[in-house]
Amino acid sequence: MADVPKPQELGNIDHSPPLKGWMDEPVRIRPGIHCYAAKPQNVKTVGMPNAHEWNPTDEDWKLPDNWRDIIKQGFKERLDRFRTFRIFMDVCVRCGACADKCHFFIGSGDPKNMPVLRAELLRSIYRKEFTLGGKVLGKLAGGRELTEDVLKELWYYLYQCTECRRCSLFCPYGIDTAEITIIGRELTNLLGLNTDWISAPVANCYRTGNHLGIQPHAFRDMIDFFVDEIEELTGIRIEPSFNRKGAEILFITPSGDVFADPGTYTCMGYLMLFHELGLDYTWSTYASEGGNFGFFTSHEMMKRLNSKMYSEAKRLGVKWILGGECGHMWRVVNQYMDTMNGPADFLEEPVSPITGTRFDNAKLTKMVHITEFTADLIRNGKLNLDPTRNDDLVVTFHDSCNTSRGMGLLEEPRYVLKNVCNHFYEMPENTIREQTFCCGSGSGLNAGENMELRMRGGLPRANAVKYVHEKHDVNMLSCICAIDRAVLPALLEYWVPGVEVSGVHELVANALVMSGENERTTNLRGEPLPGMEDDEDV
Ligand code: SF4
Ligand code: SF4
Repeated sequence: MADVPKPQELGNIDHSPPLKGWMDEPVRIRPGIHCYAAKPQNVKTVGMPNAHEWNPTDEDWKLPDNWRDIIKQGFKERLDRFRTFRIFMDVCVRCGACADKCHFFIGSGDPKNMPVLRAELLRSIYRKEFTLGGKVLGKLAGGRELTEDVLKELWYYLYQCTECRRCSLFCPYGIDTAEITIIGRELTNLLGLNTDWISAPVANCYRTGNHLGIQPHAFRDMIDFFVDEIEELTGIRIEPSFNRKGAEILFITPSGDVFADPGTYTCMGYLMLFHELGLDYTWSTYASEGGNFGFFTSHEMMKRLNSKMYSEAKRLGVKWILGGECGHMWRVVNQYMDTMNGPADFLEEPVSPITGTRFDNAKLTKMVHITEFTADLIRNGKLNLDPTRNDDLVVTFHDSCNTSRGMGLLEEPRYVLKNVCNHFYEMPENTIREQTFCCGSGSGLNAGENMELRMRGGLPRANAVKYVHEKHDVNMLSCICAIDRAVLPALLEYWVPGVEVSGVHELVANALVMSGENERTTNLRGEPLPGMEDDEDV
């Protein structure tokens, strides 16, 4: 973890209004609050423009001479292309309903982290360049010149928004600041001004199919490692298939599940579940990434990285796609994939081969979320579950912003959890489901160098966890997002020590009684199961 002030210091947050107007307050780019600059080779790999060396804390960002024209032209093209963007630039009435809904404002007290003001940074340029009032009256009409300092301020705050959309839930006009951020980031990408934590995974994904740049044989080796672990745990040897033509189902999950703890236990959970069902499925070592950091770069990059899902499904001749636990992967799949890279007419409307359930909600995308699939199995009595194996856990559930607000997936994960765990408690109502608080590290902010920002942004989520930790002894925060699984352990270690993080299918696999398994003494993490502690000691 990068140097970050102690929790007591960060907890002292000043939310009082500033004395000066926001336009008169120059930007101050602070270490710990921003990510490192995109490296030119990563920008070049994907053919994005203006790849160059630069540093956010340098005076000179080495911009091309015509940078203003590039931004103005890019702005105009996006106003013409995205009707929502034009409306969002015009209709805000500054009612302030969104102001205190952003986790970054709550955790930092920085007024420019209020959603209304974050959008205003871009809107002020819009007024000056594209409205008569702004052109004539300038600052009096809320317009301002596009200077290098304005560009730096824009960059700094666009990469302090996790595109979580919580603010949009409270806006009477439905203004989606996340969408403003997405387009604002596209503009910065026209000048090569991405962050390296986004541009490197994008380039990796483009070259090898996953964010980590893992080659196919290494991807397979990792799954084989899980197979060995599962055999040690259960005595059962699983034989997953890779790139198998003619399989019924293609399974795609974020690479975080394959390579980063505690997501790896969730990956073992998928393998165990599919084996127990005798599912006719295959992994792909080409579509080896469900996540899509292209989404944090531009619409075009999102489309390019997403295209491998349908391409691979077509090449392998599967009937439909099953998707693992991820957040932004599902926002891209649910909101964009069908119109962006579809229609996938070569696939069939997904039907569970185990229960016969037709997933009507996946009629267009032909892709089913793993918690929908598993909830259906449980509802139809197809799984032999022993929830007492999770009796050492007191569990709560964190809704990923993308699966909850982005696709309305609210009940299925809870239904699954309540069937595999005996002790489950919800966090306060205004912090879950559609109103969930972000982990503070989504949309490509999960780097090590901006840890202070992440701890500040994650404070409201951590506070809600703290509440159930103190009230109900909750010791496990379960979630269905790979970024959440990667970032929440650090957040909880910082704000709420004593609470761990798991995927839902890790807990499913703990409870799953597999046919012919040896008596289990430990959970997937190798910790003794409740009642088996003595066996572990001998
Ligand atoms: S709630 Fe909507 S209209 Fe009100 S200030 Fe925020 S963005 Fe503007
Ligand atoms: S989308 Fe989320 S992070 Fe961005 S301004 Fe709104 S609440 Fe804040």
